Amino acid sequence: MERIKEIILCKYGEVILKGANRSMFEAQLLRDVKRRAALSGHFEVRARQSTVYVEPLDEEAEEAVDEVYARLKKVFGFVALCKAAVCEKNMDAILETARAYLPEKLAGLSTFKCESRRSDKQFPLSSPEISGEVGGAILDAVPSLTVDVQNPDVVVKTEIREEYAYIHAGQDKGAGGMPLGSAGKGLLLLSGGIDSPVAGYRMMKRGMTVECVHFESFPYTSEAAREKVFELARELTEYCGQIKVHVISLTHIQEEIRDHCDEDYFTLLLRRFMMKLASKSAEENNCPVLVTGESLGQVASQTLKAMVCTEDAADRPVFRPLVGMDKEEIIEVSREIGTFDTSILPYDDCCTVFTPRHPRTQPELYKVLNEEKRIDAEALIEEAWGTRHCVVIRQEA
Ligand code: ATP
Ligand code: MG
Repeated sequence: MERIKEIILCKYGEVILKGANRSMFEAQLLRDVKRRAALSGHFEVRARQSTVYVEPLDEEAEEAVDEVYARLKKVFGFVALCKAAVCEKNMDAILETARAYLPEKLAGLSTFKCESRRSDKQFPLSSPEISGEVGGAILDAVPSLTVDVQNPDVVVKTEIREEYAYIHAGQDKGAGGMPLGSAGKGLLLLSGGIDSPVAGYRMMKRGMTVECVHFESFPYTSEAAREKVFELARELTEYCGQIKVHVISLTHIQEEIRDHCDEDYFTLLLRRFMMKLASKSAEENNCPVLVTGESLGQVASQTLKAMVCTEDAADRPVFRPLVGMDKEEIIEVSREIGTFDTSILPYDDCCTVFTPRHPRTQPELYKVLNEEKRIDAEALIEEAWGTRHCVVIRQEA
């Protein structure tokens, strides 16, 4: 028989189909998929029946199906995806394709069951009949397999759709969440640590477009530390396509705090300056909210009282998607999304220079504000604001 054509089917959840946003969501998903597929070659991308079809258009693209598949697993808004063999809509072609396509896909498994679905009700066989025939073909082709309808290793599905029939051996979970850009924009305070990339991921998953602000303190922080942050941002582009990182220098602010303020308040004061500068950046870049990777009680500056003192300096809501998560849980997500190994590279962050020996864990806001008055906050902010620059990072092929 001819070479089997394999395509990718991405299914979006019912949830996102509700309401008036449907066409916007669909358009966004199509755009996302098209852009990612194009990184690997020529593909046709179209949507039909809550499914996005991704079809290779030449041999080079056929070779790249696995690569594109891996990339599409990171598109928010899809609940499931699978690779499927395409064939003509008649039983001969379906069975021939099943025999040729499935043995390799089912290698190493011992039980299966068949399911079928017809969206074309004109098709002469019923769904159970199709399943029976395909099941028979599988048993012939792979004698080591047996049928188990209760608890199979894999469900082989035959779908008779409008133009063609599709056969696939099991589907994978999609990234879930909501399509990118469906939930407005937020400014993520991105450090080089484990938490903030996870916080960014969590918000992107809910449809938020995320821009980043990173604070550095050269020469107390290094070029390598900055590169590490860009690398983390690059890793996040696998979910969002591109990301802006606004870089702002805190060097002079930190020196002034060190020289004039009570050591116990160093970190809190620094975090307030971060909030003020992040608020300015958020205003300039049309982000109505800030996002941080803070988690309740994780360190001295993340106790309830410390967060109150920090947030007081922000001029807009601060989202903390990790606030109720344990470090272990955050690490698990960071491994899953592929940022962990970069996050643990040992470079200094501006939060780890001039750290107090006895940081206040139960700070009173008025005391923090009194310490802040020892330096010219407004002038320092203006000066730091002048150091900002923006780097745009795009997903690589
Ligand atoms: P992370 O793993 O995200 O660095 P952390 O446990 O080190 O978190 P902190 O250093 O107290 O915690 O920072 C708390 C949050 O403040 C971070 O998650 C991040 O959102 C923000 N933040 C800290 N340092 C920076 C920085 N240099 N630039 C931008 N944001 C920062
Ligand atoms: Mg940190």
